[in-house]
Amino acid sequence: MSGTAVRATGHGDGDDGERVARRDDAVRAAVEQRLVGPGAPLAGLLDVTGIRASAAALRAAFESVSAPGTEILHAFAVKATPLVPVLRLLHAAGIGAEVAGPGELALARAAGIPVARTVLDSPAKTPAELREALALGIAVNADNPQELARLDALVRSAATRSPLGLRVNPQVGGGAIEALSTATATSKFGVALQDEGAREWLVRAYLDRPWLTRLHTHTGSQGVPLSLMARGVAEVYQLAEEINRRAGRQQVDTLDIGGGLPVDFGSDATAPTYAQYARLLAEVVPGLFGGRYGLVTEFGRSLLAKHGTVLARVEYAKSAGGRRIAVTHAGVQIATRTVYAPASWPLRIAGYDAKGRPKPGPGVVQDIAGPACFAGDLLAEGRALPPLDQGDHVAVLDTGAYYFAAHYAYNSLARPGVYGFVRDGGGIRFATVREPQTVQEIVAESGGDRAAALTEL
Ligand SMILES: *Cc1c(COP(=O)(O)O)cnc(C)c1O
Repeated sequence: MSGTAVRATGHGDGDDGERVARRDDAVRAAVEQRLVGPGAPLAGLLDVTGIRASAAALRAAFESVSAPGTEILHAFAVKATPLVPVLRLLHAAGIGAEVAGPGELALARAAGIPVARTVLDSPAKTPAELREALALGIAVNADNPQELARLDALVRSAATRSPLGLRVNPQVGGGAIEALSTATATSKFGVALQDEGAREWLVRAYLDRPWLTRLHTHTGSQGVPLSLMARGVAEVYQLAEEINRRAGRQQVDTLDIGGGLPVDFGSDATAPTYAQYARLLAEVVPGLFGGRYGLVTEFGRSLLAKHGTVLARVEYAKSAGGRRIAVTHAGVQIATRTVYAPASWPLRIAGYDAKGRPKPGPGVVQDIAGPACFAGDLLAEGRALPPLDQGDHVAVLDTGAYYFAAHYAYNSLARPGVYGFVRDGGGIRFATVREPQTVQEIVAESGGDRAAALTEL
């Protein structure tokens, strides 16, 4: 094994070590095959083998705690990695899609994901979006009473095969990252279950509408502890049981328990695992897996994060006032959350030399800066890394979800190319997932074909 500062730690999971070795090989190959070089200083790499393994682990984890024959749809939260070939890869691995608007729905359809394996959730669906979803037969979770009234009108006017439900906020509290905690007392999502009169309103809403057959909840994302997620699911399970009891039949037949499994951004360990979460759910909400309910999950980050790497050239190495700075091409445009909220979103960085080999050497405290024109465009501050020099490379790790695929156009910095990789004999084979954006495309998307629009107004 080589001398990268970042190594799988002793969690005893051989898969994690394999993934690290594949990543080192892919970085080297990306440099050798010139996916990254002086003319292309930034790229996103996706580990196809790792993505398949995570999809398989998710399916196995839930199957192992469910009664035989339980219908389970794992719908990938498209916002985590909105790339059509990734959605197709997941579909081939038995994973559907959770979409939150017309763009994500179009991506899922372009990937060939069947409507029966697609779920639409979003807090601000327009009438046209709802009409389209119902015409297609896509499952819809309404967010609030006003949206439910829109569904009433649509269901009256045309038959639909769409399974329909309501999103409930169990109000079980928040996690470590306020912006990603969706089950606080005042969250903007869903019907707030513990508010006065809300529970009775919800039960009546179902009893009055025999076509409401699902309940949905999503307690939050990164930073929410598993125990809190399980409590959120338990609340919604109990509500389903109450509705069914009062209806005198199994009206609610499917529970959508959302996503949110956190990712360990501090090491190469996959922790927690899907198996741990599934076992916890089976303990806290045993009825969930008894076979009376179909299940939908909506994991995003945990399926993709560990399988993506941003690879960037170090353009310059400099120092200022005793502070050592590596100026790279990876900054706010691909790691927006990390740059604006570094305490909540730390990322690991690994150093590689000009040939893409893990860079040895004693740790030297330095800052890793991005290319954008503001002082705060830093991916890491005061990090001990091998001394980085111009022409070296940095890999920004665990960036397969919510990072390079969700570009931020600051400084008109180009979207990087994204390449999937597999091992092939002794080497690495790449496929282009997304071409790098060209300068011509940037101009075109910035009104380039109407330069005189304002002077001639
Ligand atoms: C974002 C989101 C998810 C996915 O969350 P992850 O933390 O990426 O697993 C699932 N469901 C809904 C409704 C979401 O908004």
